[in-house]
Amino acid sequence: MENVVIIGTGCAGLTAAIYTARANLKPLVLTGTMPGGLLTTTSTVENFPGFPEGVDGYELMNRLQQQAERFGARVKFGTVEQVGLKQTPFTLTVDGEPVEARTVIIASGAGHRHLGLESEAKLEKKGVTYCATCDGALPVFRNQPLVVVGGGDSAAEEALYLTRFGSVVHLVHRRDELRASKIMAARVLSHPKIKPVWDSVVTDILDVEQDKVTAVRVKNVKTGEENTIDCAGVFIAIGHVPNTELFQGIIDQDEAGYIVPKAGAATNIPGVFVAGDCADRVYRQAITAAGMGCMAAIEAERHLASLEE
Ligand code: NAP
Repeated sequence: MENVVIIGTGCAGLTAAIYTARANLKPLVLTGTMPGGLLTTTSTVENFPGFPEGVDGYELMNRLQQQAERFGARVKFGTVEQVGLKQTPFTLTVDGEPVEARTVIIASGAGHRHLGLESEAKLEKKGVTYCATCDGALPVFRNQPLVVVGGGDSAAEEALYLTRFGSVVHLVHRRDELRASKIMAARVLSHPKIKPVWDSVVTDILDVEQDKVTAVRVKNVKTGEENTIDCAGVFIAIGHVPNTELFQGIIDQDEAGYIVPKAGAATNIPGVFVAGDCADRVYRQAITAAGMGCMAAIEAERHLASLEE
């Protein structure tokens, strides 16, 4: 039986792994389908303390994993398919295999929000993508007009990154002001290759018939005017949805599916703790996820100690 099973290997999960491993609990850390989490798809992380020059997102996650493994964490590629958290020991089904655990830390993160268009789903990976750093350098996008959708830091980062490859980057945002941090917004708005398309939403992505992206249809939400923007790629960066479906009806969540911690990192089930983006609709930063991972680890350690008493 495992002392601690950590679901997720983003900043929250791996920080929880470092702390529980240093407490000699030999945590089992399950990667899910995206080892390293969303940060591995970022280019440079400039706001994680301790890296004055910035750090590559993939490298940061790699370092966290190495740090956890150095103290005895076991990182395993595996997806949790089912959870039995209503009785102890807790049981998890991981790629068909049962795993028993005294405590569980949920650090399952968040996934990309979709626009919800039929054409978006049909053209995914055929010019529609949710990750500029993963796909931006593909030959199909080189020297072509590109579209980024969104107005937050992710959209700003994607747009800036894509200026290296595209001939022009149209940034389609539903309002006339970016949500992104001031520094990112200033970089975007002063970049000669980025053309903001304000007050606009994407209503369709063309061309499903040709099985590739050729343009987007956009509608101005203030005037109702519709336009077509030619492009070879659409990069959607409109935020995230928490990866918490597995816990629905078991662990308390808010209406958007974010897990609601009780005090600190505790959930409604004693012995099950939560950390990171799956429980954070406010801050959603690498450093806050790491901090929550630390809290969850300390609480899991204390819970295990209380079981021994
Ligand atoms: P976000 O801050 O939630 O921004 C999402 C953007 O998408 C908003 O501009 C929103 O518009 C727009 N949007 C949402 N739903 C939409 C829809 N259905 N159709 C069209 N537009 C839609 O998400 P994020 O940019 O992914 O950032 C998440 C968190 O990570 C933030 O806390 C951010 O600061 C952080 N982050 C930081 C960095 C960095 O520091 N370098 C990089 C990436 C992310 P409205 O503005 O109108 O709501």
